[in-house]
Amino acid sequence: MTHPLFAPGIKFDEPYWWETASPPEVMEAKLPARVDVAIVGGGYTGLSAALTLLGAGREVAVFDAERAGWGCSSRNGGQIGIKLRRSLDDLTRGFGRARAIAMVREKMESRAYVAHLVESERLDCDFTWCGRFVGAYRPEHYETLAAEVGPLENELGEECHMVPRSDQRSELGTDTYFGGQVLPRNASLHPGKLAAELTRVVLAKGGRIFDATPVAAVVRNRDGFTVTTTRGKLEAGEVIVGTNGYTGDMFPDLHRRLIPIGSYVIATEPLPDGLMDQLMPKRRVTSDTRRVVHYYRPSPDGTRIVWGGRVAASETDCRVSAPRLHAAMCAILPEMRDVRITHSWMGFVAYTFNHLPSVGVRDGIHYSMGYCGSGASMAPWLGHKVALKLLGKEKEGATAFDDVKFETRPLYTGTPWFLAGAVLWYRFLDQVGR
Ligand SMILES: Cc1cc2nc3c(=O)[nH]c(=O)nc-3n(C[C@H](O)[C@H](O)[C@H](O)COP(=O)(O)OP(=O)(O)OC[C@H]3O[C@@H](n4cnc5c(N)ncnc54)[C@H](O)[C@@H]3O)c2cc1C
Repeated sequence: MTHPLFAPGIKFDEPYWWETASPPEVMEAKLPARVDVAIVGGGYTGLSAALTLLGAGREVAVFDAERAGWGCSSRNGGQIGIKLRRSLDDLTRGFGRARAIAMVREKMESRAYVAHLVESERLDCDFTWCGRFVGAYRPEHYETLAAEVGPLENELGEECHMVPRSDQRSELGTDTYFGGQVLPRNASLHPGKLAAELTRVVLAKGGRIFDATPVAAVVRNRDGFTVTTTRGKLEAGEVIVGTNGYTGDMFPDLHRRLIPIGSYVIATEPLPDGLMDQLMPKRRVTSDTRRVVHYYRPSPDGTRIVWGGRVAASETDCRVSAPRLHAAMCAILPEMRDVRITHSWMGFVAYTFNHLPSVGVRDGIHYSMGYCGSGASMAPWLGHKVALKLLGKEKEGATAFDDVKFETRPLYTGTPWFLAGAVLWYRFLDQVGR
C-alpha cells in the first residue's frame, strides 16, 4: 500500500524509537531450577521490580514473550506528566479530598522516581524537564483547566499557569485550541532508550532475562510456585506479573479486569528549517482536553514530530492509522501537510474499569498494571512498589492505590467488545457543540 504521505522506506509496526534503541536480544541459555522471584513481563514494571529486588539481594528471572521492553515500554510517547486519567475533582467525589490528593501526589512521586533512577543508574534516555502544554479543545475547557491551577499550586505544590488563546503561539503554532495550561515541570524521555537502559542495568546487577519465553502457567505449590514456560519449568518462591495491556488468558483473573486499548503513533520526516521553532517553540510535550486524546511532541533531537492518538473505533492496521493521524496532526498544525511519515506503530495500553492503576496480590501472585496510558512513570514506580511489598516492607511499599477495588464486570473476560461503541460515543461528545 502506498500513499503520498508515506516517506520512502516507511516502517510499519516498528516504533521510531527502535531506530536508536530497539529492544535488545538477551541470550540466556538455560533456565535455572529455582529463583527467588520470577517476573512475568519485561517492560518498565517488570524491570523496575527486578532492580529493587536485586538491590535487596534476591535472585530474579524476568520472562518476556518477545523481548524485554518490546511492549508499551518501547512504544510510548515518552511524556511524563503528573495528572492521572481522572481529574482531582472526580477523585475527590470518589475517595474524598485527602485520598485524591494522595493519588495525584503519587503520580508526582513517580515522576521524581524516574528522574532519580535516570540519575542514580546513569540511564542514557534523553530525560528532559521540557514542560507540557495542554490545549483547551472547547472554550469551556479553558475554564476547567484554569480551575485546576489553584489546587495544583496550593495543595500539591506543582507549578502551573494558563496561556490565553491570544498568546498561544508562544507555546504551540496553532489557533485551533482555545488557550491552554502549561505545566513547566512535566518531562519527556526517549522510551526505547529507557527500556534498553533498564534492561542493561538489570543484567549488570545479576538479573537474568529470558526473552522469547512466554510464561504459559503459574501454579501454586507448597514452597511457592511452579512456572511453566515454553523453555521448560522452574520453581519460584514468589511471582510478579507485569504484563499490562499484553496480559493473556493464562492469568484469567487479571485478564478480565483489564481493558486493552490500542494507541497509535506516527513519526514524521525531519521538518524543514525553522518549522519546529514556529510550531513547538519551547519544545514541550503536548496533549489536549479531548476525551479521545491526542498527544504529541518533538523527537528528542528536535527534528521530527511524534504524534499519537486513537483514530479508529476498532483496532486497525498501522497503514490505515498513519494517514488518519497525519490528518489529525494537520487539523492542529496545518503547516505539517507536506511533511511525510517515516514510522507508524501502535501498542496496547491497559485501562481499568475505574481508570486507576492496580497493584497488589491476587491468589498469592503479586501484580501491578492498568496504568490507563500513563505508565511511563507509573510503571517503574509501581514496579518498585510491588517489589517492596513482596520484600515485606509494608510502609515503604504502601501506595495511595492500595485497597482500591480492581473491578471487573459480569461476563467480561478480557475482550472489550464495547470499545468501538465507546470510542465513537466519546468522539461524538468531543465534537458536539465545538
Ligand atoms: C502508543 C503508546 C503511547 C503511550 N504514551 C505514553 C506516554 O506518553 N506517557 C505515559 O506515561 N505512558 C504512555 N503509554 C503507556 C506506557 O507505555 C505503559 O503504561 C507502560 O510502558 C507499561 O509498562 P509495563 O511494563 O507494565 O507493560 P509493557 O511495557 O507493555 O510490557 C508488558 C510485557 O509483557 C510481556 N508479556 C505478556 N504476556 C506474557 C507472558 N505470558 N509471558 C511473558 N511475557 C509476557 C509482553 O511481551 C510485554 O513486553 C503509552 C503506551 C502506548 C502503547
